Amino acid sequence: MPMKVDPCSQPSLMHPDDAIVKLLDQVCQLDESEMVQLPHALGRVLVEDLASSIDLPPFNNSAMDGYAFRYEDLAGNEPLTLIGESFAGHPFGGEAKAKTCVRIMTGAAVPPGYDTVQMQEKVTTKEDQITIEAPKTIGANIRYRGEEVKTGGKVLQSGTQIGAAEMGVLATIGVSQVRVSRRVKVAFFSTGDELRPVGSELAPGQIYDSNRYSILGLLGRANVEWIDLGVIQDDPEAIRAAFRSAAAQADMVLTSGGVSVGDADYTKQILGEEGEITFWKLAIKPGKPFAFGRLGKAVFCGLPGNPVSSMVTFYKLVWPLINKMQGLPQAKPLLIQAKLTSDLRKFPGRVEYQRGILSHDAEGQAEVTITGGQGSGMLTSMSLANCFVILAQEQGDTAAGSLVTVEPFNSVLC
Ligand code: AMP
Ligand code: MG
Repeated sequence: MPMKVDPCSQPSLMHPDDAIVKLLDQVCQLDESEMVQLPHALGRVLVEDLASSIDLPPFNNSAMDGYAFRYEDLAGNEPLTLIGESFAGHPFGGEAKAKTCVRIMTGAAVPPGYDTVQMQEKVTTKEDQITIEAPKTIGANIRYRGEEVKTGGKVLQSGTQIGAAEMGVLATIGVSQVRVSRRVKVAFFSTGDELRPVGSELAPGQIYDSNRYSILGLLGRANVEWIDLGVIQDDPEAIRAAFRSAAAQADMVLTSGGVSVGDADYTKQILGEEGEITFWKLAIKPGKPFAFGRLGKAVFCGLPGNPVSSMVTFYKLVWPLINKMQGLPQAKPLLIQAKLTSDLRKFPGRVEYQRGILSHDAEGQAEVTITGGQGSGMLTSMSLANCFVILAQEQGDTAAGSLVTVEPFNSVLC
């Protein structure tokens, strides 16, 4: 019996991996940058390397609450005389003297001349006489000046996206503002006569415009400047006007819906009249109809209207473009082999991004469970999931227990 094939598959469909390469070829990094104050730098992309103007740590300091002393003074097993204290922010004013020690707290400066710290749990005290159990080595429990970074050493590279750790690194070296790439401006509109805004009543045949919010969520995570152009009716002139307005304000025009071949799918037609279309049909499920082109200086991406399709195509195709435009290097997705917990249905013909829940079995081996119905309109399949199960173009039904390739959702999708 001949193998069943995906009814939506055609030989002319473009593999999504080829599509990504072609798409990336069409966009450039924005050449504008701006200075932002550190509290506003989260998520932004550095456009210059950053070197430290100070040593890290800036001075020898204690890694423990305890006592600082000269290692050689422990040789005679005699107690040492306490001569002072060094607290974080309040260094000991004096210097080391033979057979003495100083009470020291974590992060406090080690007074000059002392070479070792012992934690207070390994010390016995009798008034000012301190008996210290010798640590294994001289220099124990001291964090040395410049041991992490020396003055002039590079701490962050151009093209780094500033996350929580980078915010902290910048503050550690005393940087209060950084030069980052300008945010990519993305104008978005949904198309469809059936769409109603949330908060209104639905008449027969209408649905809520959910893509506006899932795409808003994705764009928010991608750190762009969002220009909301609302819902545009399936009317060629309204779509034309929206295209013109969007292209005048944005680096990228993003739409949802109207890119399949239905009677009311005008996006493709108007884009052809107002700009250029690069390609149309991808061997990807969900998400086959995806439009790409140019509108004046702006890049155009037309996402399919089906809610899961629009999220998947955004994630796989639009997000890498935004990253390139804002100066981020292309990251290879982390792929994991996981055991399927139940049989999976698939026609050969398209690469599928089924939605799954990645966890591990009792032995700690990765396993993945498909999140129920996989219809391209079933958005709960995305919200339940924490990963895509990526099934190759020619793959068919797959039995429980087989290993499949899984791509955990990253911060854009979660
Ligand atoms: P289209 O791509 O315009 O042919 O739409 C495909 C399917 O997605 C149809 O069932 C639409 O009703 C649905 N759809 C289109 N746009 C949206 C939207 N913004 N929010 C929710 N569903 C949508
Ligand atoms: Mg439509």
